[in-house]
Amino acid sequence: MPPSTGERGLLVVTGGSRGIGAATARLAAAQGWNVRVGYRTGEEEAAAVVAACRALGRWADAVRADVADEADVVHLFGSLPEEAGPLRGLVNNAGIVGAAATVAELDADRIRRMLEVNVLGAFLCAREAVRRMDDGGSVVNVSSRAAVLGAAGEYVDYAASKAALDTLTTGLAQELAGRGIRVNSVRPGLIDTEIHAPGRLERLGPGVPMGRVGTAEEVAAAVCWLLSPEASFTTGTFLDVSGGR
Ligand code: NAP
Repeated sequence: MPPSTGERGLLVVTGGSRGIGAATARLAAAQGWNVRVGYRTGEEEAAAVVAACRALGRWADAVRADVADEADVVHLFGSLPEEAGPLRGLVNNAGIVGAAATVAELDADRIRRMLEVNVLGAFLCAREAVRRMDDGGSVVNVSSRAAVLGAAGEYVDYAASKAALDTLTTGLAQELAGRGIRVNSVRPGLIDTEIHAPGRLERLGPGVPMGRVGTAEEVAAAVCWLLSPEASFTTGTFLDVSGGR
C-alpha cells in the first residue's frame, strides 16, 4: 500500500504535462510524493496529471511556467503552499528539440532558444529549488544519450545543451553533497513521446540494440529511483535508459 499523504515531501516536475514528465509525476505520486506539475502550454494535460496524483491521495497542483523565463521560475518555486510539505525533489525535465538540421543550417535564434530552455531553464529551476531544500533533497536532470552521441545531422545544438546539463549535474552534485542534496542525470535514448518528428521512432527504433524504443514509464522508473532513499549514496552520476545504445 502506498503511504496516504506525501511522506516523501514535495516534488516539482517541470514539463510535467506530457511524456516523460507526466509519467514521472504519476509514478512519484504513487511512491509517496506530493507533486507540483510545471507546464508551459498544456493546461488540460497538466490538470489531468494533477487529478491522477490526487486520486492517489497526494497533494498536487499545476503551475504554468516557461522555464526559460526567470520570473516564471521564481513564481513556480516561490508560490508553494505550506500544506504541500517541504520541498525535497526537483525533476528538471522540460526540454525541446528542433527540426532535423546540420550545424551549417542552424540560425542563432534557434540555438539561443534551445539553450535558454534546456540549459538556462534547468539552472534557474535548480537554483530556486536548492535554495529551499532545507533538510536535504534530490535533483534529477533529464538529459539525453544525445549528450554523448552528438546527434550529428539532426540536432547538435540539442545534444550540446544536454551535455551542458550533464556538467550541471557533476558540479552541482559536488556543491551540495555536504548539505544532503543529491544531483543526478537520467539519459534517455529513443523514448515514445510526442517530442519526435513523425516517423522518427519507427525509422530508428529497430536500430536500438534491444530492438525497440522505450516508454515514458521506463524512464520515470529510473528518475523515481534516483529521487528515492534507495539511491541515498548515489550523486553526480548518469543513468542511461536507452536499450543498449
Ligand atoms: P514532450 O512529450 O515533448 O514533453 C515536453 C514537456 O516539456 C512538455 O510537458 C512541455 O510542456 C514541456 N516544455 C517544453 N518547453 C517548455 C518550457 N519552455 N517551459 C516549461 N515546460 C516546457 O517530450 P519528452 O519526450 O517527454 O521529453 C522530456 C525530456 O526528456 C526533455 O528534456 C527531452 O529532451 C528528454 N528526452 C526525451 C527523449 C525522447 O526520446 N522522448 C530522449 C532523450 C531525452 P507543454 O506541453 O505544457 O508546453
